[in-house]
Amino acid sequence: MISPKKISILGAGQAAAYASNEIRKHDKEIKITIFSEENYLPYERPPLSKDSLTGRKKYEELSFFSNDFYNTENIQIKNNTVEEVDFEKKILITNDAQSHTYETLLIATGSKNKMLNLGESEDDINNSILYLRNIEDSKKIKQAINTHNKFAIVGGGFIGLEIASSIAQLGKVAHIIEMGSQLMGRVIPHQIASLISDYHQKNGNTVFLNSNILSIQKQNTGYQIDLNNNKIDVDCIIAGIGSIANVDLFENTALKLDNGILTDEFCRTSEKSVFAAGDVANFFHPFYNSQMRLESYQHAQNHGIAAAKNMLGYNLPYTKIPWMWSDQFDFNLQLVGLCNNYDLEVQRGDNIEEGIIYFFLKNKKIIGACGVGIAGKIGRDIRLAGKISENKVTMDIEDLQNKKIKLNKFLKI
Ligand SMILES: Cc1cc2nc3c(=O)[nH]c(=O)nc-3n(C[C@H](O)[C@H](O)[C@H](O)COP(=O)(O)OP(=O)(O)OC[C@H]3O[C@@H](n4cnc5c(N)ncnc54)[C@H](O)[C@@H]3O)c2cc1C
Repeated sequence: MISPKKISILGAGQAAAYASNEIRKHDKEIKITIFSEENYLPYERPPLSKDSLTGRKKYEELSFFSNDFYNTENIQIKNNTVEEVDFEKKILITNDAQSHTYETLLIATGSKNKMLNLGESEDDINNSILYLRNIEDSKKIKQAINTHNKFAIVGGGFIGLEIASSIAQLGKVAHIIEMGSQLMGRVIPHQIASLISDYHQKNGNTVFLNSNILSIQKQNTGYQIDLNNNKIDVDCIIAGIGSIANVDLFENTALKLDNGILTDEFCRTSEKSVFAAGDVANFFHPFYNSQMRLESYQHAQNHGIAAAKNMLGYNLPYTKIPWMWSDQFDFNLQLVGLCNNYDLEVQRGDNIEEGIIYFFLKNKKIIGACGVGIAGKIGRDIRLAGKISENKVTMDIEDLQNKKIKLNKFLKI
C-alpha cells in the first residue's frame, strides 16, 4: 500500500474535517492542507437552523475540533477560496493568485442553495430575501427574528420548517409557502407531513400548500406576497427551496459531473488521484446498486472518513445505510434507508406524542423507514430498521405493525 506524501482538501466542512482527522489517525507524516472560503474552523451546520437561532447554542460552540487540534495534528487550514483546478497539472489556484500543487486531492465543497428569482426588475426584492447555508446567514436570520414579527418561509422542506419552528419558538409567526401538495416533498409519507403541518399550525405558524408566488410588492415596512390562492403581509422573507451540489468550479473541466461529482464506491472521481465526499458527491452505493447524492450530517462525516482511508490506499467500499434527522419544536423526524420504489407501506404507532413510523418494504423486506416522535420515541426503532434492512430480513407484517413486539426480534432470526 503506497500512501501519498501530500493531501489537499478543497472545502472545509464536515467531510473535510473528518477526512483530515482520519488521515492523521493512520499517518502522522502526510502533509495535509485544507482550503476554506469561510473564516471559521470546520463547523456543524444543523444547529444553524435550530439551536443557534433560538439561542440554545452559541456560534462559537459549533466547531468539530478546536484550533489546538489542527495545530497539534499539523493540519494546515488556508483561508482562501479555490478559484480554479487544473487536473492535468495537479494545481489549485486560490483567490490570492497563488498556485498550489497537489498529489492527492479530496473535493468536499458541499452544496449550495437554490435561489428564488423574481426577475431582474425585482432585484431589490431578490437581494433582500434571506437564505441559510453558513454561520453568517444564520446570524442575519437571527438578527431578522429579533427585529421582525411576521415571516414568509418560502419552501416547506426540512430547512424551511426548522427555521419556521425556531421563529415560532421565539414567539414570532412564520407563514410557510409550499408549492407542492404536502410538506417535505414526496419522500416523506403524506400522513407524517400532515401531522407536522398540524404541529406547526398548533404552534402559531400557517401553512399554505399548492401555493405559488405570483408577485411580491414592497410596502412601507415589509412585503405583500400575492399567491395563487392567498395574499400575505410579512416583514421579512426567508427562502429554503432546496440545494444543489456545489460544482461550479468544475463545469468546464474533464471531471465527470451528473447531479454532483460522480464517484465510485471508493470515493474515486473520474480524475486520477482525485476523490470527492459529502454533499457534493454522487456516489455509487453497492448495497442499493445505484448512484446517490445525500445531504446529511452523518453521511458527510462517514463519507469523509471513507475517502480518507481510500486516499491512503485501503480500498474499502462505502456501504453505510443512509440516515438523517430533523428537529422541530420538541419532535424529531428521522429517515433511514430508501423511501421510494417500495411495494408496501406499513404503519407502526399513530401519533407524534408516542411516535409513529412508516416502514417501506419491497418483497417483504424493509428498504427504508420514516418516523416522527417527541424526542426519544422513534430513534431506537429507526436504528433497528436500518439494521434489519441491511440484513435483508423477511418481515412478518402483523408483528411489524404491533408496537408491543420489539423490533430487535427480527434481528435474532
Ligand atoms: C442549515 C442547515 C441545517 C442542516 N440540518 C441538518 C440536520 O438536521 N440533519 C442532517 O442530517 N443534516 C443537516 N444538514 C446537512 C449537513 O449539514 C450537510 O449535509 C453537511 O454539512 C455536508 O457536509 P460537507 O462537508 O459535504 O459540506 P459542507 O459542510 O457544506 O462544507 C463545504 C465547505 O466547502 C467550502 N467551499 C466550497 N467551495 C469552496 C472553494 N472553491 N474554495 C474553498 N472552500 C470552498 C464551503 O464554504 C463550505 O465551508 C443541514 C445543513 C444546513 C445548511
